[in-house]
Amino acid sequence: ENLGPTITVGEILVELMATTTGFGFKEAQTLYGPFPSGAPAIFIDQVARLGGAAGIIASVGNDDFGALNVERLQNDGVDTSAISKSTDRPTGSAFVRYRDDGSRDFIFNIMHSAAGSIELSAQAKALIARAGHVHVMGSAFAIPGAGLAIRTAIEAVRERGGSVSFDPNVRKELLGSGNLRQQFEYMLQNADLLLPSGEELFVAAGTEDEATAVTHLHDLGIDEIVLKRGKDGATYFGATGARYDFHGFVVEEVDPTGAGDAFGATYLTSRRQGLGPEVSLERAAAAGARNVTLQGPMTGLPNTTELDTFIASTPRRTK
Ligand code: ATP
Ligand code: MG
Repeated sequence: ENLGPTITVGEILVELMATTTGFGFKEAQTLYGPFPSGAPAIFIDQVARLGGAAGIIASVGNDDFGALNVERLQNDGVDTSAISKSTDRPTGSAFVRYRDDGSRDFIFNIMHSAAGSIELSAQAKALIARAGHVHVMGSAFAIPGAGLAIRTAIEAVRERGGSVSFDPNVRKELLGSGNLRQQFEYMLQNADLLLPSGEELFVAAGTEDEATAVTHLHDLGIDEIVLKRGKDGATYFGATGARYDFHGFVVEEVDPTGAGDAFGATYLTSRRQGLGPEVSLERAAAAGARNVTLQGPMTGLPNTTELDTFIASTPRRTK
């Protein structure tokens, strides 16, 4: 923590949600929003809400969607100095609709929005020069300019003895873009902490077996792997062989978007604040579970008091 803030790079978006389940957006329907969103933004907001020093390299438009996001981040204590304001592009957006089986269809406007114009600005360089940890969301690699900022940040932070975390966060809609596999390999070589969810573990390791995947990733030098399992909780795999399973809090799921980001930010921030992996895992699972109980990807992000209250008052699965 003393080394400097946790920083991230990537898309700031507003999210607009369909109010009914079904297949996508081919018919007129009611939408609910805008909500502040974007995986890196959700993540960094959660870091700040837990009292961690936090900053983000991003870009918004000169519009209400941008203002909504920047104000939210600022109010929660995120360093927004490296969020640039585009003069000719609107803030990015994501339209999301759930299907009955729980899967989601997205329409993203990222690459040709302000989010697509992320650059290594003077303000970004200044933030990087102060940073102690870099967290990378796989989704950010879809943005052309983000790759350079990410690599620059990782190299600078590494040089100063800082650490790196990676959430692959692969969305099928974004998979086709850029040289994603190469960026993936680079992140696996550089991450100290990996936060995959479900299948992403196998995609990262290139194998279909959990134990083999974990061993392979540890061999690459990743010290901590924390696998997210949705309502079934999460598992910690340490390089020394330690394993902790947290079976999950029992909650009513209203809106699962953002759970993984809240989880990752809480795990990382707890670790950076000096807590051990087992406690950090429980706290992370609590932040993820709490977040799904409220509509909007950032609505349920807890501060420390709210997190402690949730942990003390929410039933948990034992298996
Ligand atoms: P995202 O959609 O944000 O990318 P993800 O797939 O990365 O999410 P999840 O596994 O869905 O991550 O959620 C992260 C964590 O939040 C889980 O490991 C779990 O601890 C908690 N969580 C998520 N959904 C639920 C739920 N329905 N009930 C209880 N806990 C949940
Ligand atoms: Mg995720």
